[in-house]
Amino acid sequence: MTAIPLVFDAPRRGMPPRHLADLSVAQRRDAVLELGEKAFRANQLSHHYFSRLTVDPTAMTDIPAAARDRLAEQLLPPLLTVVRQVECDEGATRKTLWRAHDGTMLESVLMRYPDRVTLCVSSQAGCGMACPFCATGQGGLERNLSTAEIVDQIRAAAAAMREGEFGSLGRLSNVVFMGMGEPLANYRRVADAVHRICDPAPGGLGISQRSVTVSTVGLAPAMRRLADEGLSVRLAVSLHAPDDELRDTLVPVNNRWKISEVLAAARYYADRTGRRVSVEYALIRDMNDHPWRADLLGSLLREHLGQLAHVNVIPLNPTPGSQWDASPKPVEREFVRRVNAAGVSCTVRDTRGQEIAAACGQLAADG
Ligand code: SAH
Repeated sequence: MTAIPLVFDAPRRGMPPRHLADLSVAQRRDAVLELGEKAFRANQLSHHYFSRLTVDPTAMTDIPAAARDRLAEQLLPPLLTVVRQVECDEGATRKTLWRAHDGTMLESVLMRYPDRVTLCVSSQAGCGMACPFCATGQGGLERNLSTAEIVDQIRAAAAAMREGEFGSLGRLSNVVFMGMGEPLANYRRVADAVHRICDPAPGGLGISQRSVTVSTVGLAPAMRRLADEGLSVRLAVSLHAPDDELRDTLVPVNNRWKISEVLAAARYYADRTGRRVSVEYALIRDMNDHPWRADLLGSLLREHLGQLAHVNVIPLNPTPGSQWDASPKPVEREFVRRVNAAGVSCTVRDTRGQEIAAACGQLAADG
């Protein structure tokens, strides 16, 4: 295994032009006034983008043509173009490969379940956290995505659902920041994106905060900052090991913030928001699946979080060039049993999209 350096500061090169979805309602009004248009045009644009889910200026017939062209050019620059879409699970999972304005590639994954439709979004192109079992982490960080590049992945999925392009079941209901990137390493843009996702239309897309999950490797100070943001999204912490010795290698950022600091920040989040925290644990054969580690995980979580934790065990998805694989089912069952026996709720997470390299840890946007 080669050591990949941790990267916290993404290069700014390639960031896209300003877009309506980067801006708050007040900023949109100011931007429209600066362009010499009447303030109410900001509401009209917002209605088209966030309520009608369209980016096509020719469909915005309530705005006079000249104003429409100027406003669209300045506030609705094209951000993401579909390069390819692939489906599996009999059409219930769909991965989209996107190209940004500067050629940067990223992916998002739409998943249809009987009771909900979830979009897994990217917050960065690539990732700087270097986790050795994750394909995105192995590719390194290319750049942060802008707020609007994050929001537009969701707008496009919501439009596809509304148009019945992806099965007939209703609307996009859930968003998980579990695609490419470490969301809390792109903090401000991700927090702003959450506001755009959750604010009622036409200010935002009107998706319930309870249905949005932000997943992190455990950037403890940023977890506390998110707790103080006044949001109540679900927080997921990718733990993957109950002991610092192993976590230092599986999640290299553990060398900076240890398990105890990560769990203290998770506890702070749960206390501030009143929400249970999800603990993600990718189960890897003979690596982190030992009975003693299950016991240690159980006691650690009971001590730090008690009933405020729920453990999701994720059978490891294969990644190119890696020798590691998922634990055998009996080992997995015993692991889950032991965590539950410690008084901590624990289930195995349904995993989707393996055959199209769309599952957790497989997003590489490498065509
Ligand atoms: N950077 C964030 C969000 C993206 S990953 C984070 O790490 O939380 C979403 C989840 O998939 C994380 O829990 C991550 O650890 C997990 N994951 C990564 N690679 C995986 C793999 N090969 N198999 C199973 N889960 C994996």
